[in-house]
Amino acid sequence: EIASCLVGSEMCIRDRYGQMTAGSWIYIGSQGILQGTFETFAEAARQHFSGTLEGKLVVTGGLGGMGGAQPLAATMNGGTFLAAEMDEERIQKRLDTKYCDEMTDNIDYAIDTALKWKENNIAKSIAVKANIIDLLAKLIERNVTPDLLTDQTSAHDPLIGYIPHELTNSESDKLRVEDPEKYISLSYESMGTHVKHMLTLKDRGSHTFDYGNNLRERAKEAGVENAFDFPGFVPAYIRPLFCEGKGPFRWAALSGDPNDILETDKVMLELFPEDKALAKWINMAQKRISFQGLPARICWLGYGERKKAGLAFNELVKNGSPASPSSALSIRVFPVPAGPTNNAPLGILPPSLLNFFGSLRN
Ligand code: NAD
Repeated sequence: EIASCLVGSEMCIRDRYGQMTAGSWIYIGSQGILQGTFETFAEAARQHFSGTLEGKLVVTGGLGGMGGAQPLAATMNGGTFLAAEMDEERIQKRLDTKYCDEMTDNIDYAIDTALKWKENNIAKSIAVKANIIDLLAKLIERNVTPDLLTDQTSAHDPLIGYIPHELTNSESDKLRVEDPEKYISLSYESMGTHVKHMLTLKDRGSHTFDYGNNLRERAKEAGVENAFDFPGFVPAYIRPLFCEGKGPFRWAALSGDPNDILETDKVMLELFPEDKALAKWINMAQKRISFQGLPARICWLGYGERKKAGLAFNELVKNGSPASPSSALSIRVFPVPAGPTNNAPLGILPPSLLNFFGSLRN
């Protein structure tokens, strides 16, 4: 039965359009991007700062749909976080959901506050309503060098996504409609300046990386020949995890009962006591994540570990706890937006076939 379920599902998987990682049952809202960003920062911490961002300053631009996970992902890793975001509503949303701690429109105040927190090892985040170019220019002028530097403005889209340096939000909205060509050319020019600033900070010692928004390519097209002097996040921080067979593993409580997830969290902590990042994640996730959709959890597990977890969940259900079966799935390929088809599956299968599928696929 197990084998036919697996084979049947593999066939379905091949027929499914990529990007469906979060399809149907297993939609978990922003927990997925938060966890992916947490893993990226955790790996950066392991590579550069002996495993923690404590006492380190993380700087970035853009707190949108995905980028908005950055402040919480950084503070969950113990770091101090500073971001520039042009859209006040986007910042407010992250304040409301406690992903970000403070907002200001004063760049100097934002830098002073972040430096004070950093000096005192305080894991808090501040967002300044400003263009990222102005924040980076100020950091350069004041000789403040972030420990970790990246960017999640929507640079992949020079018309709708990125906001050129010269424009306010309302001026952007107007120019986009009235003269899109001019807007795009201003965007390219700004992205050139943006990357030049990142390169300056990199030369001063910031661990700098691109977060998959095509910023380096745009800057290169704008004439910045050495735009690719800093790496992308996948080769720098995700690929090393893939090389160890580590990847995302998520499960949801079909009962709708959050206590079921707390039970499975306990199992995870018991199963992998040596994994410090996992323990940090589960403990923080319990405190900071409000479930969206079914109560659910995601974490990254290594080769063989997903199977171990799935089998342990099977035992849990067999023994009458949690209240109802959970569904689990393991994903072999990190879900990269607009990226290659991944093995994200399962939405068309009934829950009985879904149960603990992750343990079988490992
Ligand atoms: P989004 O459009 O929801 O948010 C982008 C934010 O950047 C907006 O809030 C906008 O106001 C802000 N912004 C734009 N220009 C700015 C500027 N010059 N200064 C300050 N703020 C500015 O996009 P998103 O979903 O958060 O994703 C952001 C980018 O990161 C995208 O390009 C996305 O593809 C990329 N990304 C890729 C991956 C991946 O796995 N490859 C993961 C996360 C994000």
